[in-house]
Amino acid sequence: MSRIRIVPINAIPSDFLSRLGLCLEERFLFPAQTARTLSVSHSVVNTQRGQMFLSTLAAKIVRAYSSEAGLLLAITDFDLYKTGHRFLFGDADQQQRLAVVSLHRLRPEFYGEDSDANLLFQRSLKECVHELGHAMGLKHCFNARCAMYDSNSIFETDNKVAHFCELCEKRSRARR
Ligand SMILES: [Zn+2]
Ligand SMILES: [Zn+2]
Repeated sequence: MSRIRIVPINAIPSDFLSRLGLCLEERFLFPAQTARTLSVSHSVVNTQRGQMFLSTLAAKIVRAYSSEAGLLLAITDFDLYKTGHRFLFGDADQQQRLAVVSLHRLRPEFYGEDSDANLLFQRSLKECVHELGHAMGLKHCFNARCAMYDSNSIFETDNKVAHFCELCEKRSRARR
């Protein structure tokens, strides 16, 4: 698990991705690089829900990138769902070493608020740390401030920090 490759799904601003990469390197202590963009057609969106089925997207990512040399972290603007979940901020698969984070519901605009690039970045970082934690095999944490806390609303995301608590940090170090 020697590196993180950040996979932009369609157009994601490159300054956002490079800032994200730097912050993830600082936390996980291995290199994070932006990989080539994966183009995914909007025709894949479930028109009734206006959302994309997570497994459809995950299969495309796994097909396009080999995860042999590390963890894959896909960033998308698509609104995601899976069976039993109305929506997802993100998801991860430890076997496939894949983490996916959707920016859709992290944008203040989604909640009728003014756009705020810094708030969007902080929320995204928290969810990326969370999903990468899962991809490394970490489970949810009961500490509401810990990045591994399972947030089901944007309030819970805003309430947690972009770091692991002491316990989760120890667990993640053991898996690096
Ligand atoms: Zn989770
Ligand atoms: Zn924790």
